[in-house]
Amino acid sequence: MSPAPRFKRILLKLSGEVLMGDGGGLAIDPAVTARVAAEIADVKAQGFELCIVVGGGNIFRGISGAARGMERATGDYMGMLATVMNALAVQNALEQIGVETRVQSAIPMSSVCEPFIRRRAMRHLEKGRVVIFAAGVGSPFFTTDSGAALRAAEMNCDALFKGTSVDGVYDADPKKDPNAKRYATVSYDTVLAHNLKVMDASAVALCRDSNIPIVVFNIREHGNFAAVLHGEGVSTVVQKETE
Ligand code: UDP
Repeated sequence: MSPAPRFKRILLKLSGEVLMGDGGGLAIDPAVTARVAAEIADVKAQGFELCIVVGGGNIFRGISGAARGMERATGDYMGMLATVMNALAVQNALEQIGVETRVQSAIPMSSVCEPFIRRRAMRHLEKGRVVIFAAGVGSPFFTTDSGAALRAAEMNCDALFKGTSVDGVYDADPKKDPNAKRYATVSYDTVLAHNLKVMDASAVALCRDSNIPIVVFNIREHGNFAAVLHGEGVSTVVQKETE
């Protein structure tokens, strides 16, 4: 039998790239999105309360626009709009398999989704809905990692699960260094001091200050999300230094 889960309410951060077709095909691949939704539905059916923050990097990143001469803030607003598209795609995939959801955007868009209202989001969770947060924190010069850390803190989540296409945090780039080792656990301070690629520094610092563990895992691997929630599966947990 699986060990009892440590967490009840979790925030799942989905990078935009996890919705992409294999080999960089479609930005939002319906089949891939459906597979990710099935992993989420499985966890929801086990009684966890779930908030989701979606990224937009599969469609647009402000920093790439800026590199091509676009004003950074404008590019960032475009990036935030991209996250709304991804949020709708995830909502659609979840509702197709019977999971009730609400999308709330940090940039109000009343004919598309709800605006972000914390107490309303809490009510959705109590009613058993999955709440999908779009548009990050709603301001340029931030990322959806910061949005995820912020929402995890204000929604009183027990942990932030970062679903990506790698299976954790390594001490070196595993694609370049065959001796790279994956951490089972690592402290917030080590991540920040060594600039380990987990989430951006402001997001890690916010999780540290609110004492929210960050669990990095591969959501594309079937069954892994549920397994990691039960303390099994493959992941790295970023947490307070343990004696
Ligand atoms: N973004 C922003 N403010 C936010 C969240 C996102 O300006 O609070 C913009 C930023 O340009 C970012 C883009 O939206 O590059 C897409 O989000 P992100 O890069 O975090 O997506 P991910 O890497 O998770 O797919």
